[in-house]
Amino acid sequence: MDTMTKTVYQLPFTGIKQYKMFINNEWVDSASSQTFDSVNPFTGEVWAQAPLGDKEDIDRAVQAAKAAFETGEWSRYTGAQRAALLRKLGDLIGEHAEELAISEVADNGKLIREMLGQMKSLPGWCYYFAGLADKVHGESIPIDIPNMINYTVREPLGVVGAIVPWNSPLLLTLFKLCPALAAGNTMVIKPSEVTPASLLELAVLIEKAGFPPGVVNIVTGYGQTAGDALSKHPDVRKVAFTGSSATGKLIIKNSAEQFARVSLELGGKSPNIIFDDADLSNAVNGVLAGIFAASGQTCMAGSRVLVHDSIYDEFVERLVERTSRIKLGNPLDMESEMGTVAFEGQHEKVLRYIRIGQEEGATLLYGGKRPMTPELKNGFFVEPTIFGDVRNDMRIAQEEIFGPVVCLIRFRDEEEALQIANDTQFGLAAAVWTKDVQRAHRMAGKINAGTVWINNYRKVSYASPFGGYKASGIGRENGIQAMHEYTQVKSVWVDT
Ligand code: NAD
Repeated sequence: MDTMTKTVYQLPFTGIKQYKMFINNEWVDSASSQTFDSVNPFTGEVWAQAPLGDKEDIDRAVQAAKAAFETGEWSRYTGAQRAALLRKLGDLIGEHAEELAISEVADNGKLIREMLGQMKSLPGWCYYFAGLADKVHGESIPIDIPNMINYTVREPLGVVGAIVPWNSPLLLTLFKLCPALAAGNTMVIKPSEVTPASLLELAVLIEKAGFPPGVVNIVTGYGQTAGDALSKHPDVRKVAFTGSSATGKLIIKNSAEQFARVSLELGGKSPNIIFDDADLSNAVNGVLAGIFAASGQTCMAGSRVLVHDSIYDEFVERLVERTSRIKLGNPLDMESEMGTVAFEGQHEKVLRYIRIGQEEGATLLYGGKRPMTPELKNGFFVEPTIFGDVRNDMRIAQEEIFGPVVCLIRFRDEEEALQIANDTQFGLAAAVWTKDVQRAHRMAGKINAGTVWINNYRKVSYASPFGGYKASGIGRENGIQAMHEYTQVKSVWVDT
């Protein structure tokens, strides 16, 4: 059926779907034969089960990836051959976008209409990095020593361990997989225990695309066991991690033993700064998209909204009015405008922060509750929530809530806006809304964040580097720079 006419999507099966893991191009159970449940956050019921992989399974996968890198067919592939496989994978993802979107929605409760759009954007990552696979080269370096030629080559690292979170499993995996494979590495990927399904669906397409055995392996399981083993494995040369800043710290410690490289894409508390000359209706739209998309469960959520004192009241009025019209509903329904949060523990965490905000003296301007209508009461829903009169030293302004909760903070001038914006342990993203072009560039220069949007929010592209300052991370994903993160430089000296 045409996606434009379909309104409520369905899971393409009944009962509980049983998944297997993907190691060395084989579909396998975990060594322990145990499984874990994935709960659909809209129904509160188990919809899928995946193998409970642990240290032994990780080791099996790493050995497969190591053999593929060192002696397998893949080790002899040219850049152009790797590019052809990546392009094929992109085509397959495009053809299966709907199934992939449905499996993510069933796992994490994000909106189908948002996920269909995201899935359709994913082939772009495959095609962009396929285009770079045969363009990674070193340099010829003039040397001040007679008869010496010196040149560099860029070589792949080896086995890359990728550990990804539950909020955008496929997108955040492709951020890593596309440059890693384009550069000639092999991979072991561990999805979040909350969302194993879509990556195992991706594995079907990886197999179909024709990647040789061991190039991509997917092991499902818990962070404390499978994730821990992957980040400590002596044969893993790089750990590419996306998740919380607290786990990021552990990843650095774990990978230190074998001096594995790390790239860390971590949490945020991004400021969305509205000056008094901003186009207010655009700014309100940007704030809504910044915090309520994916029920606030995005690393780049604009969770602190800094509003100039002179427009604060009008801004609040417009934001509350627009928020009151957001339709919560079945995430598989194209008409729904906000889905659930991803799982019970996250639901409890968000509601706990709302209580903390009230205790700290912030003004609850809208929302704050779990809706209990017959349609919504079984799901892990939280109303879109707006706190006013927030001080930047409150916990709700300093800690990552990762839910649909926005903090409004007043400022009087540019200097104060900047001071508040930078007064955070995080530095992932920020936005500035103003018609003053000089001020926009001044602010972009002084905000300590890896991404600054001017008069827009949430724009991401495979071509543009993305990553954090301070506790928001180390390294950059996307863009040509990502190829450098998955290669190492060798310097060759020749006596002529
Ligand atoms: P998390 O840190 O709890 O888990 C992330 C992954 O790490 C999961 O696969 C988990 O199983 C694994 N893990 C957990 N403990 C581990 C351990 N001891 N050793 C190894 N692996 C372990 O994060 P989450 O709750 O799944 O995701 C939400 C967080 O991710 C938020 O903080 C969010 O800001 C962040 N995030 C960042 C970006 C970014 O690009 N900067 C993007 C999306 C999400």
